[in-house]
Amino acid sequence: MTNTQRNQPVDVDALGESDPYEAWKTIKDQQIFRDVPTYTGKKRDGWTRIVCISDTHSRHREVSSLPTGDLLIHAGDFSLRGEQEVLEDLCLYFDEFSNKFQDILVIAGNHDRALHKEHYLARNPQGEAAFDKAYETIRKGCTYLKDSTYRTEGGLEVYGSPWTPEFFDWAFMLDRGAPIREKWKQIPSSSDIVISHGPPLGRGDHVPGKGNQGCYHLMREIQERIQPRLCVFGHIHEGYGTTYDGTTLYVNASSLDVSYMPKNPAIVIDVPHDESKSPVVVQPGPCQYRLSDLPALCKVNGWELLGAALVENDLSKLGENVANDYLLRMEDAYEQLTGRLRLSRAGRVELCEALRFIHCASFDY
Ligand code: MN
Ligand code: MN
Repeated sequence: MTNTQRNQPVDVDALGESDPYEAWKTIKDQQIFRDVPTYTGKKRDGWTRIVCISDTHSRHREVSSLPTGDLLIHAGDFSLRGEQEVLEDLCLYFDEFSNKFQDILVIAGNHDRALHKEHYLARNPQGEAAFDKAYETIRKGCTYLKDSTYRTEGGLEVYGSPWTPEFFDWAFMLDRGAPIREKWKQIPSSSDIVISHGPPLGRGDHVPGKGNQGCYHLMREIQERIQPRLCVFGHIHEGYGTTYDGTTLYVNASSLDVSYMPKNPAIVIDVPHDESKSPVVVQPGPCQYRLSDLPALCKVNGWELLGAALVENDLSKLGENVANDYLLRMEDAYEQLTGRLRLSRAGRVELCEALRFIHCASFDY
């Protein structure tokens, strides 16, 4: 390395455009990671409870045990390739929650092809009627946000946008750099909540073997200008979970894991209307069910494969104390129980449903 090269400052903006992981390595030491604020209990007056899901890829009914809240947010990728049947079923599914939420806010993701007119028509020249139908379906079935703002009853401003950085031939994609930056510049500075399909760089965006893949320019706009209180996204299924930088709470709500298994429960957030307080991740309370309750729950809920596997493997051998700890930590419970029960794919889906049922019941304790 020559002296001139050594003295040249790294052009992070250029890196952010060409290689997000390299950009992240350059800036991560200046990034703030605080403990995520949490809360357990019923919703308080002056707060809005938001239930977040994302990336259901046609399997929305397998993430159906949702805790009650004011708003349900779906951050895109509800289909595999924008299938009309999936869209219609999604809207019927939302309809079943009309008593559970005041409103359901949805953005599209890169898989929801039929909703991106230019992309769809370029690949399906006769597709105008199909686009119209898809657009009409989603607009009737929920509050559909596409580079637009929604105001909640509690006065929160929610902005939703479907764009992600270019990655193969999918919908709602733009090149990193100026093209996508223009979209993020449209987000009003007054937004309290930003829903984007993909994560900002460094937040719920880590892909094993590839590093951080989020959008550098979204991160800059979020942290330097908009400073919303909450960001909800999905897209990078591996990044499910929450982080906090002291100003913004980041939620990757991907409901399916990287193998498209409906493993991740909805993430529940309480947002205070008082701006001096931070939003909190709502955690389930003491679990009212024990492992020994599972066979009975299987019977009532029709989880036949799981019920049979539990009986066959003799519950007492699984160890009651350890198992009750699992039930408060869904991912651990899932890993431990699938390992011990040797379940088929359908059986694993039932296990997800059972754990989610228990998880949701523990919000209403
Ligand atoms: Mn996805
Ligand atoms: Mn996606």
